[in-house]
Amino acid sequence: MQKFVYIVSSPHGGSTLFSHVLGKHPEALNLGEVSFLPKLLALGELCSCGSVLRECKFWGAIFAKYASIVGYDLRHDPYEVTLGDAPKDKRGSGLIDTGQQTQLRFLAMKIRGALDTISVLHAPQSLGLKNVTLPSVSRGVENTLALYETALLVSGKQITVDASKMPRKAAHLYVARPEQVRIIHLTRDGRGVVASRKKYMQVSHAAERWAHYHKLSSRLLERWVPPEHRLRLSYEEFVTQPEESLKSISEWLGVDYAQQYLVFDNAAKSHAAGGNPARFELDGGIRGVDERWRESLTPDELTTFEALAGPQNRAFGYE
Ligand SMILES: [Zn+2]
Repeated sequence: MQKFVYIVSSPHGGSTLFSHVLGKHPEALNLGEVSFLPKLLALGELCSCGSVLRECKFWGAIFAKYASIVGYDLRHDPYEVTLGDAPKDKRGSGLIDTGQQTQLRFLAMKIRGALDTISVLHAPQSLGLKNVTLPSVSRGVENTLALYETALLVSGKQITVDASKMPRKAAHLYVARPEQVRIIHLTRDGRGVVASRKKYMQVSHAAERWAHYHKLSSRLLERWVPPEHRLRLSYEEFVTQPEESLKSISEWLGVDYAQQYLVFDNAAKSHAAGGNPARFELDGGIRGVDERWRESLTPDELTTFEALAGPQNRAFGYE
C-alpha cells in the first residue's frame, strides 16, 4: 500500500539530510517541503536537482498531472491551490515572499493557526478532529494528499517523504489517512539547534521556540497518532548509527532495507523542494554528530537555554 511519511522536526533539526537519505530507497520519493511549494515556485527557487523548480522536468510532470486533478497549474498560479498555511516569522531564517505574506495575511495565518491549535489540542476526541477543523485547513490537507498521490502516480513509486515539519499538519494528515500516513518525530539536541540559529536569532527566543515546538509536537502526536504509526528518532542516533536506524525505520514502514540509502554519489538526481541550502551538498554523506554548540554557546547562553528548554531537552534524553 502507498505510504506518506511526514517528518516533524524543528528548524536546523537535521530533516534535510534525513529526508534525503530516506528518499533514496528505490520505492521512496523525497519531495522536500511540500507545504512551501507555492512560495518556492513564486520566488523562483531551485529544486535539489539544480534546476529552477518551475522548470524541473520531474516536477513539471507532477504539476501537469496535478493540474488535471485540482484545476490549477501551480507553475502558473502558485497560490491558487492551498496546501495549508505556511507562515514564516521574520525573525527566522526562512524565505518570505513579501508580496504574498503581507502583514495582514500573516496576521490572518496566525489567527487561523491559533484556532487550529485549540482544536487539535482541546477539542474532545469523541467529536473527531475532522469535524472541528477549519475548512481552509481541511482543504490544505486534501490538496496535499492529492499531491502525494499524483507524485507517486507519475513516478511509479510507493512512498512519499515530506519534510515540511508542521506538527498540526502532521496530525491532520494522519487523521485523514490513518492507514497510509506515518509520522517521524525527529529530535536534535536543542543546544545544537539554538547554536545554529544564534546567527540570526536571540538565544532566548530560539530556546523558547525549540521547547514550544517539541512540546506541541509531542502533545498532539500523542493525542492523534497511535504509537505504532509514529516514531521518534534522535538525529544524533541517526548520524552515529545510520544503518541500524534505517533498518528499523524500513521495517516499521514495511519495506526492505536498501543499500542505496547510504550511497552518496548522485544527490543531483533528487528532486526535493525547499529545505536547508545543504541540500545541494549532500554527496558528502553523513558527517557524525555536530557538537559545535559546546564551544559556541557561552555559559550565560547555556544557563538561558537550561531555564527555557532544559527539561524538554532531557525528556528527549539529552543530558
Ligand atoms: Zn528537480
